[in-house]
Amino acid sequence: MEMHEVTPEERRRFYSEEWNKRELPDFILHTLSLREFGFDLDGTGPSHRYNQFMTVEQLAEYLQNRAPYSAFTSVALYEQPSMRKGWMKSELAFDIDAKDLPLRSCSCASGSVCELCIDEARRIAMEFAETMGKDLGLHNINFVYSGRGFHIRVIDDAIMTLEQTERAQIVEYITGGVIPTDVTMALGYSQVFRERLARTFEGMDEQRLSKIRGLRRSVIQKLMVEKERALGAIRSGKLDELSELEGIGPKTFRQLLEFLVRLNSEFTDGKVTIDTKRILRLPSSLHSGVSMKCMLVRDIGRFKLEDAVPKFVHERGH
Ligand SMILES: [Zn+2]
Repeated sequence: MEMHEVTPEERRRFYSEEWNKRELPDFILHTLSLREFGFDLDGTGPSHRYNQFMTVEQLAEYLQNRAPYSAFTSVALYEQPSMRKGWMKSELAFDIDAKDLPLRSCSCASGSVCELCIDEARRIAMEFAETMGKDLGLHNINFVYSGRGFHIRVIDDAIMTLEQTERAQIVEYITGGVIPTDVTMALGYSQVFRERLARTFEGMDEQRLSKIRGLRRSVIQKLMVEKERALGAIRSGKLDELSELEGIGPKTFRQLLEFLVRLNSEFTDGKVTIDTKRILRLPSSLHSGVSMKCMLVRDIGRFKLEDAVPKFVHERGH
């Protein structure tokens, strides 16, 4: 799939012929005038902030006239979005960018994405959403294909008014990004922590484990030979059994755990979730860097990248 940069002419064509207000998600359409909009007009960065549109027609006119390189909208609702004042509430948002995944099975260069790693990002998004539904009782969970990965945008009333510290705790929980403390350990490792740890350990090979400082080669080999047994121990929460493998003392065990947990925390950019004034790429808009449409995904299980290819891309070179 071609994922190269669009030309200014293609941008103008997209916004005059192809952009459709019906592709704006309802959760944005119904709160449009309460959101801040940001734009990157020429590919140099989203420096045009503090925009407010009272109607969708005003937004449409702006997009058609300016054909921006990128368009963004706030996760927050404000009384005065054009001044970013009077914060009312914010979506709970997760940014899962394929280029930033700590483990990828493709051979993409740093900063690049392909169909394979975008699909890996999609599976992480589904994993996070499942936990939010099952463990946190959240149900109004929206998925957006962002161009290089996925956004999860949760709009349940229960989480919209959360403060930053509470959002940070949700990130830690969902990602398995922190080693549980002794206090919470009275009940053992939580299921979500065990699942995330197992998922990341499963992606380990000798080369990746060799990045842990001080982990002996013989121990790494042992861990890989006994990988299934180790995975079983992690999944069942009997992490102590890992220490019983030859050469893995408490110190090595802790280093391994810290390494895996740090990788866990890198599957999403926690800063995005914590920032209640963040702007995210506008679903329906063009991602000019990769020539794809940022779009609401109604059925994440069946998402196909082809659905996000703008029409002008098909007509390139004809
Ligand atoms: Zn890739």
